[in-house]
Amino acid sequence: MPNEREQPVMMTTECPFCRKHAHMTAKWGYVNSDANRSSIATTCDICGRIVVCVGTGMKQTYSGDQYSEGSAIADSLVKNNPDAKWSWYPAAVDEGSVDHLPTHIDKAVREAHRNCSHGNYMSSILMSRTSIEAAAKDNGIEKGQLFGKINDMKDQGLIREDVAAVAHSVRLFGNDMAHGDINVEVTRQDATEVLVLLAEIMNEIYGRAARLESIKGRIEERKTQAQALKDAGS
Ligand SMILES: [Zn+2]
Repeated sequence: MPNEREQPVMMTTECPFCRKHAHMTAKWGYVNSDANRSSIATTCDICGRIVVCVGTGMKQTYSGDQYSEGSAIADSLVKNNPDAKWSWYPAAVDEGSVDHLPTHIDKAVREAHRNCSHGNYMSSILMSRTSIEAAAKDNGIEKGQLFGKINDMKDQGLIREDVAAVAHSVRLFGNDMAHGDINVEVTRQDATEVLVLLAEIMNEIYGRAARLESIKGRIEERKTQAQALKDAGS
């Protein structure tokens, strides 16, 4: 029965377009001439967009082979190469969205995440630093260096002391990139950690205030409803 046909595990991934965890149907495949790298064009079963799966470390020795039928690709390339490493292009990117961000800051934060996903770690850290500076500006803090701006955000109650310390560490990291001190290699872990810190800072500046405001609104609403019921009963 066709529905019971075994699907190789690697043919499912998070789709970079519809963001669903989807099975990808193989449409066309090719083994490079050095025989240890192959490419498979697939389409997402949910949204139909094309995602390419590239395998490295193939054991098979044939080269230049082309496949045009889905199951043959999956069978020949995937099942016969259990130790191959498969990567999806484009990759599903965690864009690190934080609720309630102004559009231009949201764009900068997403760019920092995309840079990291694409392996551009220095750019990612630089964009994280820029996002913090833009958030300060968005809150009326425009003068001076980022050092002073972070302290002003703390003094104005926009961020708490511990979050200000976090913001300073992103600032210091970003300073190296901004001022050309790039002789120490920046790793994926560095950029990822800076993104985690950035999310903390953005949540503090925008998310926390919005959440408190929304709870306050609901409490007010309940008060009004209770009063209306009381009035109706009296
Ligand atoms: Zn999709």
